[in-house]
Amino acid sequence: MLTGATGQVGHALAETLGGHTLVMPGRDALDLSRPDRIASCVERIAPDLIINPAAYTAVDKAEAEPELARLINTEAVRALAQAAALHGIGLVHFSTDYVFDGTKEEAYRESDPTCPINVYGRTKRDGESAIIDSGCAFWILRTSWVYGRHGGNFMKTILRLAQERDALCVVNDQFGAPTSDEVIAQTLRQMLEAGKGRITEHMRASTGIYHLTCGGQTSWHAYACKLVDAMPSLGLVSRMSSRDVQGIASAAYPTAARRPANSRLHTDKLRHTFHLDLPHWAEALDQCLALMASSPSSH
Ligand code: NDP
Repeated sequence: MLTGATGQVGHALAETLGGHTLVMPGRDALDLSRPDRIASCVERIAPDLIINPAAYTAVDKAEAEPELARLINTEAVRALAQAAALHGIGLVHFSTDYVFDGTKEEAYRESDPTCPINVYGRTKRDGESAIIDSGCAFWILRTSWVYGRHGGNFMKTILRLAQERDALCVVNDQFGAPTSDEVIAQTLRQMLEAGKGRITEHMRASTGIYHLTCGGQTSWHAYACKLVDAMPSLGLVSRMSSRDVQGIASAAYPTAARRPANSRLHTDKLRHTFHLDLPHWAEALDQCLALMASSPSSH
């Protein structure tokens, strides 16, 4: 059972896990803002595994809609986890770098204490806790700065703005690793395959939180510069070069929700537990851009 198949990660998972029988209830069949309806939906579908990339992801809007964000990111997740525990199946859930406050100097490890600084982060952190409390077999995959060919994201926004404007200001004091929906989906596919068909046992043996991001680190500003420079090779006409992308401090770009300055996540645990590699963010971005260039309808 795959939720959120219309979202970035859900869409990539639907494509990547196509060899499995996927039941993908959309918002009409499973509205996560109605957690009381989740148990019966899971019972009807009777899945072998629940994968939940669906979430309330509007970080700034969440400050004005904390109750809706809580229902979807915490209470619906609690209901999914309780259903997984009841039926003895696993739950794969996605979480975020925003469970941390970003004050640590180094990359965050799974064992670091959480300390969210905005509503979205708090509701996601509480969702993690609900899963742990449920007793189900789970993988919580914390990722960061997600982009891909489908859906809205920073990459697409920059590519659009560079065609519309002569200059841009982008924050240069938040650091993280852009991670493509494709890398997330391929990594989960490999993690599932390592179970050799005995997925619940496999998840029980490796239950836990894992950081799943691309390697390396960058700032939003350097990321934007790389995108603008890549535009000619994508066949896109940009009105600016990376010299016209000005770096600014977060304080000069106030948003409703505060964001952590350090979003870097250590991925050793995932790579060592499942014996897999994660590409550098720039390499994964180049691959995504090359795919976009070969299918222009996706930009
Ligand atoms: P998207 O915003 O692209 O997709 C969210 C999905 O959730 C959509 O399919 C949406 O459906 C669905 N959804 C939202 N509300 C409801 C609801 N009430 N009932 C049913 N479905 C609902 O998310 P991403 O793919 O970018 O994110 C995937 C996961 O990764 C999430 O858990 C997110 O918290 C996490 N994450 C994302 C990051 C990012 O930069 N995007 C960074 C770090 C973590 P619909 O199309 O109908 O709206």
